[in-house]
Amino acid sequence: MKSASRFVGLFFAVLVSVTGQDGLTGTWRAEDVAFAPWTFTLNAEGARMTGTVSQGGSAGTTTTALTGATAIYDGAIERNNVSFKCDSPDGGRTIAFSGVIKGDIITFTREVKVQPGGYPGMNGIYGVSGATHFAAKRILASTVAPSAPETALRPAPAAAASAGTPSVDLRVVFLGTGTPNPDPDRSGPAVAVVAGTQAYLVDAGPGVVRRARAAADRTQINALRPPALTFLFLTHLHSDHTLGYPDLIFTPAVVGRGKPLEVFGPKGTQELTGHLMAAWKKDMDVRINGLEHGDANAYKVNVHEISPGVAYKDANVTVKAFLVKHATWDQAFGYRFETAGRSIVISGDTAPTPSVAEACNGCDVLVHEVYCSPSGQEASAYYKAAHTSAAELAAIAAQAKPKLLVLYHQLFSGCTEATLLQQVQQKYAGAVVSAKDLDIY
Ligand SMILES: [Zn+2]
Ligand SMILES: [Zn+2]
Repeated sequence: MKSASRFVGLFFAVLVSVTGQDGLTGTWRAEDVAFAPWTFTLNAEGARMTGTVSQGGSAGTTTTALTGATAIYDGAIERNNVSFKCDSPDGGRTIAFSGVIKGDIITFTREVKVQPGGYPGMNGIYGVSGATHFAAKRILASTVAPSAPETALRPAPAAAASAGTPSVDLRVVFLGTGTPNPDPDRSGPAVAVVAGTQAYLVDAGPGVVRRARAAADRTQINALRPPALTFLFLTHLHSDHTLGYPDLIFTPAVVGRGKPLEVFGPKGTQELTGHLMAAWKKDMDVRINGLEHGDANAYKVNVHEISPGVAYKDANVTVKAFLVKHATWDQAFGYRFETAGRSIVISGDTAPTPSVAEACNGCDVLVHEVYCSPSGQEASAYYKAAHTSAAELAAIAAQAKPKLLVLYHQLFSGCTEATLLQQVQQKYAGAVVSAKDLDIY
């Protein structure tokens, strides 16, 4: 009897642990709810859980702000019950989810809390269905664990968003926040600005196509799938920003892009492109004229060497290029992306220059390169001529007045990410975050 009850207890403990781990980790999708589909990527870690939530985009004429993968927090698992929260990317609302897992179904209840001053549109989350309960069905039993699930896709701080209600039609996805230093957690510099159903890449550091695929898998933003990558804006031609350029030319072509790559960049972009096409000439010949029957159109690159001003415009977005100052490069650009509802400015690599603050001028998001202010010693002459220190960036941000400042291409020589952030915050009171790969703002 005694041993039998111990057996039952052990059996129960095993069952609970199975439910807590394998029973939850994976991708779940809810179809029968407003703004469907909702996709939950959940990751059990004992009694804790991490993951992301994203919604389909719109219900009737109402659009949701949760289309990107939004990080969840306060995730807890107890037996078959799960609970977690997430904040809308503008920080205006918090949604608390609680669910009961039964096999491949989680039945969720959700409660929405609008923060004081927050955008009340979140009430529309109930949308046409009016439902407060809905079911999510497991579509994938497990998922590739994010390298840093707690932070990789965390939402922008509420302070960042209280200044306005960002329209969801323009977002920046960090594909790579690295530098020439081959840090395995930070791919080469590349960001994707997503407007409407199109992604516009800025720079193509090493790893760019694989990071775009990772971002697409996590967020369900199909514009980031490799065959959909058709636009590239180069800030300058330094190798850390262009080693992924041949990857972006050829990999999507092999997997079905079906269109030429449109590339905008400084003087020299055409010459660089010509050399790359010559280098892979034999590969293209084999793929297009061999048994693969590759699409010749997909292997074309249309290069546009641009001048400051409007570099590109379509129904989704207007892209303005502005000159920045990057050591002895004859031409280096920053870019401003704008829609009717939102603006995102990317500094490129630059020493302090007034053009960045002018281009931002109250923009929603300023993405800026930065290095740690050296303690007690002068920065090298190269750093001073090519890049921007934390203290210098604080001064630029005070002029530019972005609603959110995002540090990227962080040069961590002699400091940690926390120190770098502190150095900016010591002299700048606005909202600031330090980007990691696959963050979205
Ligand atoms: Zn550079
Ligand atoms: Zn660089």
